[in-house]
Amino acid sequence: MKHLDEILQNVKTVGISGHVRPDGDCVGSTLGVLNYIKTYFPQIEVSLYLDPIPNIFKFLRYSDHINSDRSENRIFDLYIALDCGDLGRLGDSAKYFEAAKKTLCVDHHVSNQSFADENVIDPNASSTCELVCRLIDEDKITKEIAECLYTGMVHDTGVFQYTCTSRETMDLGGMLMQKGIDFTKIVDETFYQKTFNQNKILGKALLNSKLYLDGQVNLSVISLEEMAQFDCEPKHLDGIVQQLRVTKGVRVAVFLYENEDHTYKVSTRANDDTDLAALAMTFNGGGHKKAAGFTIQGPLEEAIHLILGELEKNF
Ligand code: 5GP
Ligand code: MN
Repeated sequence: MKHLDEILQNVKTVGISGHVRPDGDCVGSTLGVLNYIKTYFPQIEVSLYLDPIPNIFKFLRYSDHINSDRSENRIFDLYIALDCGDLGRLGDSAKYFEAAKKTLCVDHHVSNQSFADENVIDPNASSTCELVCRLIDEDKITKEIAECLYTGMVHDTGVFQYTCTSRETMDLGGMLMQKGIDFTKIVDETFYQKTFNQNKILGKALLNSKLYLDGQVNLSVISLEEMAQFDCEPKHLDGIVQQLRVTKGVRVAVFLYENEDHTYKVSTRANDDTDLAALAMTFNGGGHKKAAGFTIQGPLEEAIHLILGELEKNF
């Protein structure tokens, strides 16, 4: 595997992006790389393009440098895509990636087809942040970089709990802790803490939930109307599908929320070895075996019927 320093040789401009609707690993890995370049390659002009990020991540250094406006056309010497399984996941940033002179993709999705010039893909890695750790020297990880990378690891492993967590994840997590970060605060304030309205809408989603296929599937939906009622946006719905999953006897949890265009964003989580990445790919989505997502057309009853049909085939 190439070292990030090697990839940055003779590069004057760098663009960085993660996936649409940025989550902890996406924000942590992109800001981790941004902080690294700003710290050790100050001569490089670097830009980070992302959709607006959840407020909980705004304590991370240089989060105020994130640019969500992609109206300008630019050609970067190097474009780095992090935590993206395919080009489409880059959303509005895809044009920068396509126009760049050289591209790098760092990702851990099984569905990743190595779409860049240089690819660092490992589906066994817990998170993209874990892969970023492997690309840089331990002694060059500052406290600020460690905060970014630890945050991403915490989010993609469910605080070092999901099966994607390995000995290497724990070793790297321990190394990052030693950089002087406030790990308790990061876990509490970015992972567990919810606003009052977020807890209310979680409650609503639990009340809406229904069991299907002999209790093997726990499925819930939140409508646009309900989001308005609780003053919530899609980015505030993180964690709902995890709560649906930790229900006794349930094999798969499915959470849908309505998009502005009345399509539905679907999140799935498995307790057993049902392959949700494969399932998501049949709906043009992607992800990991135990956690995947996609977008589906309405009407709602038809969408649920299609999802349950695919799940039944897999059981
Ligand atoms: P979540 O359910 O938390 O949105 O996503 C779970 C996993 O599936 C994440 O790794 C995420 O990147 C991936 N994922 C979610 N939605 C999509 C999608 O529409 N397309 C693809 N390719 N991956 C998705
Ligand atoms: Mn990730």
